[in-house]
Amino acid sequence: MSTTPGKCPICGKPSHPKYKPACSSQCSYIDLGRWLNGTYVVPGEEIIPVAGSGSPHSEEDEY
Ligand SMILES: [Zn+2]
Repeated sequence: MSTTPGKCPICGKPSHPKYKPACSSQCSYIDLGRWLNGTYVVPGEEIIPVAGSGSPHSEEDEY
C-alpha cells in the first residue's frame, strides 16, 4: 500500500510509471522474462486442478 515510486528491479533506477516496476521498456522486458522463466515464485498462488468432480464446493451433501 505504499505510493513510493520504487526502483527498477533490474538496474535499480527509479521506476517509470509506464514500465512499472521497471524503469524502461528494456528493463520491463527483462523483468517480464524473469516472470516467464519462473524466477519469481509466488507461494500459495499455485492452482491445483481438481480431478474428478467439477465443483470444488461439493462436500458430499446428503440428500
Ligand atoms: Zn531499469
